[in-house]
Amino acid sequence: MLEEKVAVVTGASRGIGRAIAQKFASLGAFVVINYNGSKERAEEVKREIEAEGGKGAIYQCDVSDYGKCETFIKDVVNEYGRIDILVNNAGVTQDGLLMKMTEEAFDQVIATNLKGAFNTVRFASRQMVKQRSGRIINMSSVVGVTGNAGQANYAASKAGIIGLTKAAARELASRKVTVNAIAPGFIETDMTSVLSEKVREASVAQIPLGSFGKPEQVAAAAAFLASEDGGYITGQVLHVDGGMVM
Ligand code: NAP
Repeated sequence: MLEEKVAVVTGASRGIGRAIAQKFASLGAFVVINYNGSKERAEEVKREIEAEGGKGAIYQCDVSDYGKCETFIKDVVNEYGRIDILVNNAGVTQDGLLMKMTEEAFDQVIATNLKGAFNTVRFASRQMVKQRSGRIINMSSVVGVTGNAGQANYAASKAGIIGLTKAAARELASRKVTVNAIAPGFIETDMTSVLSEKVREASVAQIPLGSFGKPEQVAAAAAFLASEDGGYITGQVLHVDGGMVM
């Protein structure tokens, strides 16, 4: 159970982040639903949480902006007094073959997926160290471990997330703050809905369990890492991928 916990979930307006926000709220946490552009979707997530008897608030912040992240995290601490759980879930793709990839496409994906996680960890960890407790969960990807043609920027950002996670886990362990990553495989969200039927079939063929996963299955893993039961796990990468990486 996550009663009395304040949980910040970035990119919680859609997909995996939305499922994590809903799961945490269903376990009793107060959830800070971060979004960047999808205000209405974020409001919908808040309404859904409240309709189930949960509690949450929406916060706009572009996680790639260091200064805005500082303000965002400070505002949350000022308003709610603490941050017990931080999930760095916000992520984007801008796929293209390496030889054709623009500098902007590389920079933007790294800025959101990797620097975005650094930005929030940088400020939220200060509060967690003061509290002598905290859980940080960073969203990596199967692609950060295996690589993928056409995703040099995304794969680099997700591999970077694993390095960031392990470094932070080592730095923060003495203050009882755990830091772990989740590496999802193919999950049914807006991000994968753009895949062509041909790519989808080829992707399913690589999944031992034979199907795409659901956002709720990633949310269940996040809830475990955030719970009391997950308290002796740090610096790990939990694969939620139907067996793609073994
Ligand atoms: P999604 O459906 O495309 O949703 C992305 C979320 O990230 C949205 O809530 C979006 O908010 C938010 N976001 C994007 N840029 C942001 C920014 N600069 N600041 C704050 N929020 C931002 O993606 P998803 O499939 O749920 O993926 C969630 C995470 O899991 C990502 O890190 C992704 O890389 C990772 N992942 C996904 C899969 C998969 O198969 N789906 C597999 C492996 C890993 P707005 O709409 O408000 O902009």
